Amino acid sequence: MDQDHRRALETLFARTSEPGAQARTVIGADEIARWPSDALQVLVEAGILKAWRPAATIICHGCEERCLRQVFILPTEAAEPERTGWTCDLFSDKGPFVCTTDALQRWSMSRNALAKFIGRLLGLEIKSSDREARRVRYDPIRIGCELRSLSVEFADSAVVLIGSSRIPLLDLLEWTEAGIAVDREALQVCINSSGANKSSNKSYQPSVAVRDDKKLSTEVRNRSLQREVDRLAKEHPRLSKEQLAAKAASSTVGKGMTASRIARVTRKPKKTRRKNFA
Ligand SMILES: [Zn+2]
Repeated sequence: MDQDHRRALETLFARTSEPGAQARTVIGADEIARWPSDALQVLVEAGILKAWRPAATIICHGCEERCLRQVFILPTEAAEPERTGWTCDLFSDKGPFVCTTDALQRWSMSRNALAKFIGRLLGLEIKSSDREARRVRYDPIRIGCELRSLSVEFADSAVVLIGSSRIPLLDLLEWTEAGIAVDREALQVCINSSGANKSSNKSYQPSVAVRDDKKLSTEVRNRSLQREVDRLAKEHPRLSKEQLAAKAASSTVGKGMTASRIARVTRKPKKTRRKNFA
């Protein structure tokens, strides 16, 4: 997932997981304006965001006070789009200031809707949830002939618990052209490293789990780096491993990592003949 989409989801997951966050969080147009242009539509189609009633207040930018002001509908001709305005608290000689109705649009996201979406992605039904939907348990996930308990926690951040391992929800997701999907490879890594635990509540050990969490995240990240290197190798078949790593370092996946580190955690892809699909 590229950094911009990642940041959008990160914001959403953090907002909904804050200790004081209500079961429903309201997201304003100003925040959505910072996201990649396709993000809103994808999140609405996924059922994660729903249109909410427009804001009744706006932060005044007619003065330095940035005070919160009530908005009102401005009279317009029938053919004109609706406009909203506000008056400034400090400068009665200025204004009324005008904004488009779009600037007041808001969307809501509930932990319930997010939990349902995760269930749909994984093909799992929700088994139980606490009243606030802070911890949602799903039917066990089946891999081959093994079963793992699976739940999602919204506490400070959104975390997925699979068997005995914990992983940030963000690390299990991909943003594809078709929308948000599960990173099957990342899921497999988590499943492989998670022991089957029959009663996940009792055997849950936070201190151990946090360590696992970091190790897992690193492993998942290295896999996506490898995929990026594989992709680059196809694009530039003549480059050496170091040159590919340097390219990967400037990609969104490798952001913040040095080329030598990337070279260390990835392997040079084997030359593969391009398959032709009918
Ligand atoms: Zn003002």
